[in-house]
Amino acid sequence: MTLVRVGTSPIDRQGLFAVTDIPPGTRVVEYRGEKISKGESARRLAQYNAYIVYLNEQYDIDGETLANTARYLNHSCDPNCTVEYTTETIWIVALKHIRAGAELSCNYGFDAREYDKFPCRCGATICCGYILGREYWGLLPALSPEAPPSAEEASTCLEACSTSLPPYGAIY
Ligand SMILES: [Zn+2]
Repeated sequence: MTLVRVGTSPIDRQGLFAVTDIPPGTRVVEYRGEKISKGESARRLAQYNAYIVYLNEQYDIDGETLANTARYLNHSCDPNCTVEYTTETIWIVALKHIRAGAELSCNYGFDAREYDKFPCRCGATICCGYILGREYWGLLPALSPEAPPSAEEASTCLEACSTSLPPYGAIY
C-alpha cells in the first residue's frame, strides 16, 4: 500500500505527504535508485546530481529516477522520519506518529562544509537556519563569527544538540 503522495510543500516546491495515519517505526517508502560505486558517485556528484545518497562504505544510491518517490522528501530540523539502511537499500522510516495529510521530512545530515549555501526553510521552532546534520549544530556560532546567535538561540541549539543522535550516516 502506498502511504504517501507527492504534493505542493511550504518547505520547497514539492514534498511527500501521508495519505493515511502512519505509526512510528513504519517503513514508509523505499529510496529507490541505481546502486553505484563511490567512484561513479563522485563523478555524478561533480555533475550536481542532488539525489545521490550514502548506502554503505562501498556503494551509494542514485535516486534521480522519477520512479523514486522518496526523492521528494524534504529536509526538516525537526523531522518526523529518519533513514534506515539495509545491505541493499534505504528506507524512509517514521520516527513519530504521522497524521494523514502531514508532510514527511527527514534531516538530510549534511556536514558543515559550505553549510551557508543551504539555508533551511523548514519552519520548525528549533530550525537552526541551515540544512545541516544535527551533530553539527553546535558548530554554528563558531562558523558564523559575523552573526553570532543570541544567547537564547544558542541555548536552544545546545539543547537540541544534546539530545541523542540517531545512529545513521549522512543522506546527501
Ligand atoms: Zn530548518
